[in-house]
Amino acid sequence: MSAGFVWLVGAGPGDPGLLTVRAVECLRQADLVLYDRLVAPPLLSHAPASARRVCVDELAPAHPDRWPLVNRMMIDAANEGQRVVRLKGGDPMIFGRGGEEAEVLRAAGVGYEIVPGVTAALGAASCAGIPLTHRDHASAVCIVTGHESPGKPDSRLDWPALARFPGTLVFYMGIARLEAIVAALLDAGKAADTPACVVQRATTPGQRVASAPLAELPAAVREANIEAPALLFIGEVVALRERIDWFSHRPLFGKTVLVTRPAHQADDMVRRIEVLGGRSICLPAVTLAEPADWAPVDAAIGRLGETGWLVFTSANGVHAFIARLRACGRDLRALGGVRLAVIGPATADALRGYHLEPDVIPAEYNSEGLVAALRERVRGSRVLLARADRGIDLLRDELSSVAEVEQVAVYSQRDATLEDSPEALAALRAGEIDFVTLTSSNIARVIGSALDPEAVRSGRPALVCISPRTSAAAKELGLPVAAEAVEYTTAGVIEAMCRLSAQIAEGVIREV
Ligand code: SAH
Repeated sequence: MSAGFVWLVGAGPGDPGLLTVRAVECLRQADLVLYDRLVAPPLLSHAPASARRVCVDELAPAHPDRWPLVNRMMIDAANEGQRVVRLKGGDPMIFGRGGEEAEVLRAAGVGYEIVPGVTAALGAASCAGIPLTHRDHASAVCIVTGHESPGKPDSRLDWPALARFPGTLVFYMGIARLEAIVAALLDAGKAADTPACVVQRATTPGQRVASAPLAELPAAVREANIEAPALLFIGEVVALRERIDWFSHRPLFGKTVLVTRPAHQADDMVRRIEVLGGRSICLPAVTLAEPADWAPVDAAIGRLGETGWLVFTSANGVHAFIARLRACGRDLRALGGVRLAVIGPATADALRGYHLEPDVIPAEYNSEGLVAALRERVRGSRVLLARADRGIDLLRDELSSVAEVEQVAVYSQRDATLEDSPEALAALRAGEIDFVTLTSSNIARVIGSALDPEAVRSGRPALVCISPRTSAAAKELGLPVAAEAVEYTTAGVIEAMCRLSAQIAEGVIREV
């Protein structure tokens, strides 16, 4: 039996992009992940599907029982030869019990490694625009727990020393005791007008900040309804925020976007939206499956030797076709004499993933564009269209007059049951969505049926469509379209959404 091992890993402050490369390496090898509640759920996807995932906050309701239980689980799993990742919010060594857990592991003779993470104070400082140190304003930083009750005789904090501290103070876990902390610092002589702020859910789309001079901070935080997890910053550097903040100036900050693509294709769009400051909610409108019948595809694969052109109108079509080629015992050499055409950049990239370069990418990324690009080129050839089992037949109809065209379904597309995503549907119905992204006519039709036309007419949610054809599908349902992509790609949809967001901010478009 191989020796077990434990990695005590910092998960960073919330944004899944702030995980370290080393943390990903550890997660990829994990048999068991013991994670804190504050850890961002997407991080767990770095672990193999077979790994057990256990949220330690759900292990036992009360603190005193929980920690011995977590220690026991780590040790037992390691003794059984398992590789354990103990994934903690922020950094394991800052209010993360990393030290205690390491001692317990050492005493039990279990090997371990400690992987640092971006602690909440560092994440919040960068994302709220607070330079923790500054040559003119702060030469030191003090990280303090707000968990201790000021004024209690057993408090281990020296409040007069904190009040005198010549630098920036950062309190973790202090929101519930904010008034007492501020009172203790003021009592100990800290200036009432010292710049201060509280940062909630730092680094995430839900980040919110309330700033005020120290003495007025509790009222400002109450008014802004700030909740845990949050950090308290006190010091001259907090005043620089006004000039330095970039996070809340991003184009989609404060916006909630409904992503409606099939689940396996949503990740890339979700990440792009997050990086621009938006929050994404996924409501897949269509699902993909194998075609009802492979026989026509297999027959077409058998005739590739006589086929002049192979045309793909989606990345899904590329993956499905190549997978079937392999399942038929063939490989890429079967495409040696075949020219390749794709509808747009994402489809081209899918082909390039198999080291195949498309011969044709049209200037306009739709069927009309592809017809224009292909009509003369394919004259007199055999053309194979590999696509979904539904969609418009424009390519087949237009090219049939100049070439021998065969259309095969390499995958099947179905309307998804929206009720399978109850949380997303509830968010939509509760009016929490700012922008609904519609990336195909079928998606527009399925999502459109779940939208309240009155709400869409009033601008919330606003519909953002990938192309005129998709917009037409929405308009057919009586739904006005707020923005349309110039380039018919997901990047184009995101650009259109950013433009719309800027127009709303400038008051060009009324936000309801
Ligand atoms: N080990 C963690 C801290 C754990 S203590 C770290 O290094 O960050 C938990 C406290 O961290 C919370 O009460 C809150 O004060 C702070 N915290 C964690 N994540 C935060 C976030 N995204 N935004 C603001 N504060 C956060």
